[in-house]
Amino acid sequence: MEIVILRLGHRLERDKRITTHVGLVGRALGAKGMLLASEDKGIERSIKEVTKRWGGDFFVQTGVKWREELKKWKQEGGKVCHLTMYGENILDVIDEIREEAKKEKACIMVVVGAEKVPFDLFETADWNLAVGNQPHSEIAALALFLDYLQQGKELKTKFEHAEMEIVPKGRGKEVKVKK
Ligand code: SAM
Repeated sequence: MEIVILRLGHRLERDKRITTHVGLVGRALGAKGMLLASEDKGIERSIKEVTKRWGGDFFVQTGVKWREELKKWKQEGGKVCHLTMYGENILDVIDEIREEAKKEKACIMVVVGAEKVPFDLFETADWNLAVGNQPHSEIAALALFLDYLQQGKELKTKFEHAEMEIVPKGRGKEVKVKK
């Protein structure tokens, strides 16, 4: 299964930290990349730097025309899951999404907003999904969604070509430097 995140409504400076965390959570929890509907080379750079040190091949592309990307994605058979507190509760739809994810070459675009998202997104999405129907955060919603979808398997992902790798320990810190 391929998972790509689409981040909408990113405001330069104001959302820098949150959008970076959306990318970092996506990378750490099994997504393949993040598309950002605003130009922000700083975010591309900082996530690429993390990927260089900690491995994997997570991509970040900013300045995308998101409506065109979604159209293309759907034409190629991909599904779109928009995370919003107004949507159907995750517990009621996650089985359906997991079934979709089991299909050969399954692709799921996960969309998260900043402020209000344009209303046509609710129409385009295959699922408008709420991680509980209360307002909270795109970072938390994304993390929980990725975990529910992959049922914890993403937590043991091996990141290839890493310069650094943590040796898990009950106490203290150990990091293997590979290059
Ligand atoms: N009014 C917004 C909404 O539609 O969910 C809340 C804005 S919130 C600051 C920014 C983003 O966090 C939303 O676009 C959505 O992607 C995500 N989000 C917040 N609460 C959520 C929830 N309960 N379930 C799913 N996503 C949520």
